Amino acid sequence: MFARTLEILGDLIAFPTVSTDSNLEMIAYLASHLEAAGAKVDVFLDETGRKANLFGTLGPEVDGGILLSGHCDVVPVTDQPWATDPFKLTVHDGRLYGRGTCDMKGFIAATIAMAPVFARKVRDRPLHFAFTYDEETGCIGAGHLAETLIERGIRPNVAIIGEPTEMRIVEGHKGCYEYTTHFHGLEGHGSDPDRGVNAVEYAVRYVTQLLELKNALRSKAPANSRFEPPWTTINVGAFNGGQVHNVIAPKAQIDWEMRPVQASDAAFVKQSLQQYCDDVLLPEMRRVFPQAKIETQTMGEVDGLEPADDNAARQIVAELTGANGADLVPFGTEAGIFQKIGMDVVVCGPGSIAQAHKADEYLSSDQLVKCLEMLDKLADRLEKKG
Ligand SMILES: [Zn+2]
Repeated sequence: MFARTLEILGDLIAFPTVSTDSNLEMIAYLASHLEAAGAKVDVFLDETGRKANLFGTLGPEVDGGILLSGHCDVVPVTDQPWATDPFKLTVHDGRLYGRGTCDMKGFIAATIAMAPVFARKVRDRPLHFAFTYDEETGCIGAGHLAETLIERGIRPNVAIIGEPTEMRIVEGHKGCYEYTTHFHGLEGHGSDPDRGVNAVEYAVRYVTQLLELKNALRSKAPANSRFEPPWTTINVGAFNGGQVHNVIAPKAQIDWEMRPVQASDAAFVKQSLQQYCDDVLLPEMRRVFPQAKIETQTMGEVDGLEPADDNAARQIVAELTGANGADLVPFGTEAGIFQKIGMDVVVCGPGSIAQAHKADEYLSSDQLVKCLEMLDKLADRLEKKG
């Protein structure tokens, strides 16, 4: 099975599925292999028609079952000093080099190689495959796939996201919500501040409000939170505005993010900010200039994966890998999106996140072997427990 997986991985690495480019050739390849194994496969194009999600099913089309999920896209190689061709799989010294080997085509290759085995062993519960686009740019594809699953009434019970965790079980990560807030004021001469609306001044007050919320969030940390730090954080990453000393600043802009440990914190921050703008800042700005505006642009909202006491995915993967215990990680994945629509989810896949996104990205062969061992046990489990 290892040789077969390597062959498939070589094919997958040769598809240069950088997030900005099409993934359709890779999706067609995955679809034909799953169909050859007997799966029912649907491909869902995005609105540009250049990218697609794939959803495949082995076994009966009923509720429940397990979903194996991975993203097709990879980060760019531009300006990275690669020693080998990043879009050609190079095997050297027990390492498999290539863009996407660990993040996360190795896992996808292993599931495709195993598909014929799964097909033989699947019984009364389905085994699903989800391969998505645009994970690296904010989990866009998985968000659309989740909508599709809801529309079609497809309800897997458990999802395993094969992001690189060195085959450890990961049961939680924070969300990552990024925003740019624009302030539109009114220009004027610096000598007469009351006749203009100074966007920088309003932006400063907005930042002050963000800092107050940042403090308030500390006391909202869930009891026994294992996150580091345990609460939802806010960071103001960039502040731009104004022109010169003696002109009232007409525009300002803030780039900021929050990393929620629970969905209620994100709602609290959004609602507090909205209220502050509606009740305090905007009325003041509009008294002088009725067209004054504060606009917040959502750059990305990757949902967190909230650790849960009851998690069938954790139980199953622990059984398959022999792991005892599950970790939290600082990086985001598509897992939270699947959790939000009702699945029990863990992240568990071959390779180390330390090698992801870098020049000379690699996956160790022994990690791939461990992944195949897990999938082999999964096949046996399908046969025994459905
Ligand atoms: Zn990834």
